[in-house]
Amino acid sequence: FNVPLPINEPVKGYAPDSPERIELLKTLKELKQQERDIPMHIGGQEVRTGNTVRMSPPHDHKHTLGHFHRGDASHVQQAIDAALDARTEWAELPWEQRAAIFLKAADLLAGPYRARLNAATMLGQSKNAFQAEIDAACEFIDFLRFNVHYMSELYKQQPASSPGMWNRLEHRPLEGFIFALTPFNFTAIAGNLPTSAAMLGNVTVWKPADTQIYSAQVLMELFKEAGVPDGVINLVYVDGPTAGNVIFQHPDFAGIHFTGSTGVFQHIWKTIGENISKYKTYPRIVGETGGKDFIVAHKSAHAKAVAVGISRGAFEYQGQKCSAASRVYLPSNLADEILGYVKEDLATFKMGDVEDLSNFINAVIDEKSFDKLAKYLDAAKADSSVEIIAGGGYDKSKGYFIEPTVIVTKDPKYVTMCEELFGPVVTVYVYEADRFEETLEVVDQTSPYALTGAVFSQDRYAIDLATRKLVQAAGNFYINDKPTGAVVGQQPFGGARASGTNDKAGSILNLLRWVSPRTIKETF
Ligand code: GLU
Repeated sequence: FNVPLPINEPVKGYAPDSPERIELLKTLKELKQQERDIPMHIGGQEVRTGNTVRMSPPHDHKHTLGHFHRGDASHVQQAIDAALDARTEWAELPWEQRAAIFLKAADLLAGPYRARLNAATMLGQSKNAFQAEIDAACEFIDFLRFNVHYMSELYKQQPASSPGMWNRLEHRPLEGFIFALTPFNFTAIAGNLPTSAAMLGNVTVWKPADTQIYSAQVLMELFKEAGVPDGVINLVYVDGPTAGNVIFQHPDFAGIHFTGSTGVFQHIWKTIGENISKYKTYPRIVGETGGKDFIVAHKSAHAKAVAVGISRGAFEYQGQKCSAASRVYLPSNLADEILGYVKEDLATFKMGDVEDLSNFINAVIDEKSFDKLAKYLDAAKADSSVEIIAGGGYDKSKGYFIEPTVIVTKDPKYVTMCEELFGPVVTVYVYEADRFEETLEVVDQTSPYALTGAVFSQDRYAIDLATRKLVQAAGNFYINDKPTGAVVGQQPFGGARASGTNDKAGSILNLLRWVSPRTIKETF
């Protein structure tokens, strides 16, 4: 039997006085009043080291949300041991039982956990209520339900047989443990990276970004309540090099499921290469990394649609999406009109903390990110060849606030057209309207990344030209829409070139990486 194709979880509106808004505001208040003591979770045990690290909301860094317990190399080792101890029983559990656990997790999240995970994402990661709902609730529910469906489809993949023989594929989990290294910017991704591997019978060691631990703790409680057995997902709070030193030396290391920076991923890949003869099996390396995502508008584009694509694609969640639009190419005939609309839109964006739901722009994740962005803004202000037409300000006195900023440059290779900033800054280059084809060449060649991109045009020939010329420039290519907001099951997500291994999250293609099939031939 199989698990039917689910429908995407409907996004709740959080309108004033709606039950979901009342519950969310109540939960936010409750969470803010507690100081949580956040342990690691190894083999089903809560592990406290006493070496605690303070956590605070990025938009209000003087407030203490709680403390997490920092682990060391011995905890990584314990997590691996716990995973390997749980492995055989978990791998042998019939897949329907595993499926039921993750379907239950999805239902718990759609119901009793929704407000808590959304509130934790808002406070810990400074995501507004609507972005938290789309990410922590809907996208993760979708990952769980769609992946269970894809798993059932994957297990149906069987070879042909002939009279006198029966051939079959046994979709075994990998031999060893999987390391899930997860980012701060999507709670759904943090949840998906360990669970997609685990549902196929794998055991995992999960290390979230420090800045996502506040909501990771809620995810772990959810997994427990849904019935994920002890040792199947082990959650550790260690620094990257400490984790890497233990994990990449271990003979049972069987794969990494990663979302994060290109530099870290390349370092990990090299380390795995150096240790390759130590492993029992060739590890699976699956990673989604950086992006320098583009919008290119043709002279036939609908100006307002392009403007909405820019203001939504560049500034939702402060541009802290690998998919965020960060370089824009506008035709000279429409540039002023489009930028006029963008400025009008930005004037309506309120900036502030997440508890006031009318604030659209919140804080960037931490001081390091703030300082890096402030430096780029200072450099742009000091550079007479570029113009900042909106934003440009920043303030970290209460939280790490960077104004949504639009830079206009005459140089298509200006530094912010090329480097990944990961913040609410977009750079615009205006091209001569008749030079669309040459501009596509520039779009393709400007960045080593190839995650997302968008073309806006009402001319079918121009759309076709862009689709062909930019064939390798984006793993997710959008026509007349912003380059963010891939929906699980609808736009499988991932990029190539320096943006990752393109093992499309939210599709059967991703799940294929977490099985190592055995072919069985039996003759009669
Ligand atoms: N899947 C998200 C989107 O389509 C982006 C994920 C990321 O930033 O890593 O916007």
